[in-house]
Amino acid sequence: MLRIEHWIDGVGTAGVSTRTAPVFDPARGTVSAQVRLAEQADVDAAVAAATKAQTAWQQRSPLVRARVMFAMRELLNAHADELAAMISAEHGKVVADARGEVARGIEVVEFACGIPHLLKGEYSDGVATGVDAYSLRQPLGVVAGITPFNFPVMVPLWMHPIAIACGNAFVLKPSEQDPSTSLLIARLYQQAGLPDGVYNVVQGDRTAVEAVLDQPGIAAVSFVGSTPVARLVHQRASASGKRVQALGGAKNHAVVLPDADLDLAASEITGAAYGSAGQRCMAISVVVAVGASADGLVSRLASRAAAIRVGPGADPASEMGPLVNAAAADRVRGHLDRAGAQGATVVVDGRGGAVVGGESGFFVGPSLVDHVTLDADLYRQEVFGPVLAVVRVDTVDEAIELVNANPYGNGAAVFTASGAAARRFVREVSIGMVGVNVPIPVPMAFYSFGGWKDSLFGDTHVHGAEGVRFYTRAKAVTSRWPDDGVAHTGLHFPTAQ
Ligand code: NAD
Repeated sequence: MLRIEHWIDGVGTAGVSTRTAPVFDPARGTVSAQVRLAEQADVDAAVAAATKAQTAWQQRSPLVRARVMFAMRELLNAHADELAAMISAEHGKVVADARGEVARGIEVVEFACGIPHLLKGEYSDGVATGVDAYSLRQPLGVVAGITPFNFPVMVPLWMHPIAIACGNAFVLKPSEQDPSTSLLIARLYQQAGLPDGVYNVVQGDRTAVEAVLDQPGIAAVSFVGSTPVARLVHQRASASGKRVQALGGAKNHAVVLPDADLDLAASEITGAAYGSAGQRCMAISVVVAVGASADGLVSRLASRAAAIRVGPGADPASEMGPLVNAAAADRVRGHLDRAGAQGATVVVDGRGGAVVGGESGFFVGPSLVDHVTLDADLYRQEVFGPVLAVVRVDTVDEAIELVNANPYGNGAAVFTASGAAARRFVREVSIGMVGVNVPIPVPMAFYSFGGWKDSLFGDTHVHGAEGVRFYTRAKAVTSRWPDDGVAHTGLHFPTAQ
């Protein structure tokens, strides 16, 4: 059976790990590999290699670091199909969707190619007689990323290209559910000319995460995953003195106003709800149907959901693949089991129906549940599956209030023909990423990505300019050269003259 190893100091290694976990083919429900689960000593070894490599890497010019990213971009493009196939095999999403994930990740590498510009500081000539001031940003040292299963390539790529281009060394703890791509990325970095030790991977579970959070040699932690773990990561890493950004779960609402183009709204929301079997942090999981939009919207959503072709991710005919594991499929079915008893109407039921070629896989079909109440589990919890809940309200005020009262604040969308209504929605929702007639407002690499409220713990979003700030610290320099004949004398606090 294939063993998925760690990558430390430029080589694949078993480390001291003795524990392993199974990696599944979600379309078949079978085990395809065993992944090593790191112990504290493996994390320590990765941090030691990273610390040694970082000292030299920091000294390389930003231009040289950018050239590694240019080479990495070419290699990622050349291996995009291979990466997409690996994602699909372990995650279950359809290959076309995995290809999109890889493309969005490559855009962050393209952003990191501009690091010489992004690291430019400021300069003030003559803040006092003979005195100049300037600022620069320097890397933090060794930084770590802890990432979720649902974007095994894109989410780590939100982090390491920017961290590395800034002059840091990186230790990745990928999801143990789909770990293989982390090692192909390691080999591509090596081919791109990245010195060994600058990018390291420790495979693992909670033990590895806790070792990362407590490791004194790690200066900063970027985390993406569920809210309970994000909160824990933020607290524990902060307590050990690290800089932390911890992105959590989501409950993304699409508010559909009565004046919206219902065909457009239904098509867009269908893609956002059921793409990747609903396992996206930007998936729309709640539709808020305002006033007269409800009946027409629900009938359109129902016909579209029922028409989705479900099948193995590797089959080009499939539009939606399986859930990532058996527990996820059980969780989603459990929500559908309870929905009726909690007052809702299951309009499209994904619990039945065998999938040809995936009879033992972790499949649940697209599901639509109407008349969901705010106290139902389906509304209160992050389902992270192909279930779209419809909540009906009478007014746009109620819709905004409802979105703002939800503890999550990752994404929200509004569908309307009114510029004024859209503008009001954008300004008034307590949400980090907002779409207007766009269901998945996924910012580009040169903007930052992150939510509000329980969807993010910490001060900075990932990538874009915020990513550069997160992975660097500012230094302000005041400079005088005594040979210009001007000296400050006396004990008083110096002031500009
Ligand atoms: P998860 O929280 O279970 O796991 C994330 C990471 O934390 C993994 O590397 C895992 O090994 C580790 N981990 C899990 N349990 C842990 C524990 N008790 N202690 C320490 N470490 C632990 O998340 P997941 O199921 O892999 O991913 C899905 C979740 O991620 C969803 O909630 C989704 O909304 C969220 N997500 C959020 C964003 C965002 O941008 N906000 C993006 C992608 C995914």
